[in-house]
Amino acid sequence: MRVAVVGSGPAGFYAAGALLSADLSVEVDMIERLPTPWGLVRLGVAPDHPKLKTVSRAFERIAEQPGFRFLGNVEVGRDLHHEDLVRLYDAVIYAVGAQTDRRLGIPGEDLPGSWAATEFVAWYNGHPDYQQIEFDLEVERAVVIGVGNVALDIARMLALTHEELAPTDTTDPAIAAIESSPIREIVVVGRRGPAQAAFTTPELQEMGELTGADVVVDPADLEGVEPQGTNAERNLAVLQDFAARTPEGKPRRVVFRFFESAVAILGDERVEGIELVRNELDANDRAVPTDEHETLPCGLVFRSVGYHGVALPGVSFDAARGTIPNEGGRVAPSVYCAGWIKRGPTGVIGTNKKDATETVELLLEDAAAGRLEQDPDATGAAVDAVLAERGVEVVEYAGWTAIDEVERAAGEKSGRPRVKLCSWDELLAAADRVAERS
Ligand code: NAP
Repeated sequence: MRVAVVGSGPAGFYAAGALLSADLSVEVDMIERLPTPWGLVRLGVAPDHPKLKTVSRAFERIAEQPGFRFLGNVEVGRDLHHEDLVRLYDAVIYAVGAQTDRRLGIPGEDLPGSWAATEFVAWYNGHPDYQQIEFDLEVERAVVIGVGNVALDIARMLALTHEELAPTDTTDPAIAAIESSPIREIVVVGRRGPAQAAFTTPELQEMGELTGADVVVDPADLEGVEPQGTNAERNLAVLQDFAARTPEGKPRRVVFRFFESAVAILGDERVEGIELVRNELDANDRAVPTDEHETLPCGLVFRSVGYHGVALPGVSFDAARGTIPNEGGRVAPSVYCAGWIKRGPTGVIGTNKKDATETVELLLEDAAAGRLEQDPDATGAAVDAVLAERGVEVVEYAGWTAIDEVERAAGEKSGRPRVKLCSWDELLAAADRVAERS
């Protein structure tokens, strides 16, 4: 059986792993728009969290299995279409993640200086599509809207010192911009209370361990808060610890504010401030605005209110949820999905293992029941022929390992895990060089 897995992030790799360890003989073509695999493990996980990135070892082992091919620099919707995949494979699994950000829907959202968290994350992580953006960090105060783990990543990255950034694979321009920024205050704003915050306790705790930034919490925001569940209880204990601290006078500070929503982002030419409204919680813990407004001057706003999936031409899509409608990962005969495009942008990397395994179990069940139409002409050679005919410069796994080698070698010189190649030209050239050699 030949299966196309579209997307090479955790969900894609876990799906490939489950397929390749099945009793059936399965070949997997992993189709990826970028010349590099690993999705958010490479381009989303904060660079100062190298331990989280070690999961890539598991992905490498999957890629080494017989029957696995990586087809990088191949975009579905441009180089191959849904109809091609259905014709060229016995089954298709979409594991394309959630490629855009949720919007706030408030005035001023598109002013220069108001950024989606996804853009900033992609920039400091070296995503080749985001390097042209000029992040002007020459401001004294930045506001991060949202209290999930991505909001914490952004607040923390803005607060890191030279010593904390230097050993990471953050891009050099991002390190330079963060280090030289005159930023003094990073305000993280939650529309509901500390008990409803989405971030997890270890990530919250880290905010209190920054060498270059104090953490500030208003004890009044914690009064009368009744946490439900272990995560909320632990978060509250950490926030209480933060609230009891006296700032040490570190160069930067991270301030948490709860029960406030952004009503408008203000400024003529660029962001100059943000209008916030105080909220109360209703009986269902929903935020309800009061008439208490405040304007907070700031030069940057990061909207970190969640990711959102993007529709693929020819594939059904639930625009409100940003997911492909599915039942346990089944979408249509021979079409499946896994990961964020299946369940929405929630959970940690490991959540995708269970999620992708569920999808693959259903796929194998369908195969065993004869529900997948197997076409003897659906071969690897047929795929290669279509791509060659369309002039697609495929980056195979050897091409990626070439990029990997170049990046790691550059990192070794400066005690970093890697120095990423951040432009399409550099990535494709590095992939080409070693592909030619082998
Ligand atoms: P998230 O965990 O869903 O958090 C989104 C936050 O945005 C919530 O606080 C939410 O508040 C808020 N929000 C949504 N709409 C809003 C609005 N209109 N106005 C104000 N606030 C709004 O999403 P995420 O931070 O993007 O993270 C995505 C997933 O990746 C999560 O599962 C996260 O745990 C995971 N992740 C993990 C790590 C890690 O383990 N270190 C790092 C990064 C990301 P409400 O609750 O009020 O809706």
